[in-house]
Amino acid sequence: MASRVVKGGPALTEYLNATKSAEPLYGDVQKHVLEKAMRPSGRRQDVLHPSEMVKADWCHLAAFHRLRRQAEPAEKRRTTFTRENIFQEGHETHSKWQRWFTEMGRLAGDWHCRACDQIFWDDQTPTCCRVCSASRRCVEYAEVPLNADPLRIGGKADGYSPQDSALIEIKTLGLGSLRYERPEFLERYMVETEEFGKLPDLTRLWRDFRRPLPSAVRQTQLYMYLCVHFEDLEVDRTVFFYDFKSTQETKSFTVTYDEGFSEPLIEAAAAIVDCVKSDTAPRCNINGRSGCPSCIEFKEQK
Ligand SMILES: [Zn+2]
Ligand SMILES: [Zn+2]
Repeated sequence: MASRVVKGGPALTEYLNATKSAEPLYGDVQKHVLEKAMRPSGRRQDVLHPSEMVKADWCHLAAFHRLRRQAEPAEKRRTTFTRENIFQEGHETHSKWQRWFTEMGRLAGDWHCRACDQIFWDDQTPTCCRVCSASRRCVEYAEVPLNADPLRIGGKADGYSPQDSALIEIKTLGLGSLRYERPEFLERYMVETEEFGKLPDLTRLWRDFRRPLPSAVRQTQLYMYLCVHFEDLEVDRTVFFYDFKSTQETKSFTVTYDEGFSEPLIEAAAAIVDCVKSDTAPRCNINGRSGCPSCIEFKEQK
């Protein structure tokens, strides 16, 4: 086997652990996935991401610094094989639902052609590539870019159905994703068992799951705001599809567009962009003068 050299980084420990597997093929596939994850991601660093803007601890000062140092290379992510596996499972679930909606002729958005590697917008399911005319088989859904250039906000919704005036959001709900994203929600469903100690009651968790997670609602409200005000897309609601990993059961929820919901976030983004233009740092909105964990790393770099 050829030996490969991996430079140190946040995921190095996980990488090295992968080499301890008794089965070489299992170790190799873990190394492969982690090597891929350690490459800089294609995620743009020079925009405000709705997924970050909706977090309770979104720091305006840290956002300001990130927008300013746009030319710097993307940071490497800290990750584990399990985490990458959860992400990948999420991607596969997206593809599955998007493929069904494409077969139904229900999606508009960006489309990617595997033949010419170009991306083009189409208001409906394309019959061929608009760039190189390759057959429909080469064309796959590339989601819905949602940008507010003057506010430097850039995001992507999972789907858009013009016929339903709806954005589409696809979510996977599983023990793994909940552990990472909503540990406090999962904690509510932990039960003490005599034989096995603390276990999650997944049946009850799924039964009680009656609305999208609050962070997902905040994010989609912002997406809908971008649709209406910046992208000229007719949207009055978002339809969520949840895929429950434990049983493959699914649920759907609808969130109606609320114009006022995102206004504070839009105002904050406008203020941050003004600060970048005038080169004046805003104050940390989370912890004032002393700063919060997000902006503290920028403190010494002035
Ligand atoms: Zn093409
Ligand atoms: Zn801060």
